[in-house]
Amino acid sequence: MRERAPEHPDPPTAHHISLTERGSFCSASCSCGWRGPARRARDRARADADTHLRDGTPQAGTAPGM
Ligand SMILES: [Zn+2]
Repeated sequence: MRERAPEHPDPPTAHHISLTERGSFCSASCSCGWRGPARRARDRARADADTHLRDGTPQAGTAPGM
């Protein structure tokens, strides 16, 4: 018998953050379609991703389009 502990709820949308480096700029992007602004510091890009993970919603104001 296996009992499922609700410790790992599966969210409908998985947020997989990946950092993309462009020259000296770094921007975070999520598998859900969210994209962070280009930052010169990796920490900033990661902070943006962290904020996105906390909110769990696409960036407001910027339409992701198709
Ligand atoms: Zn996401």
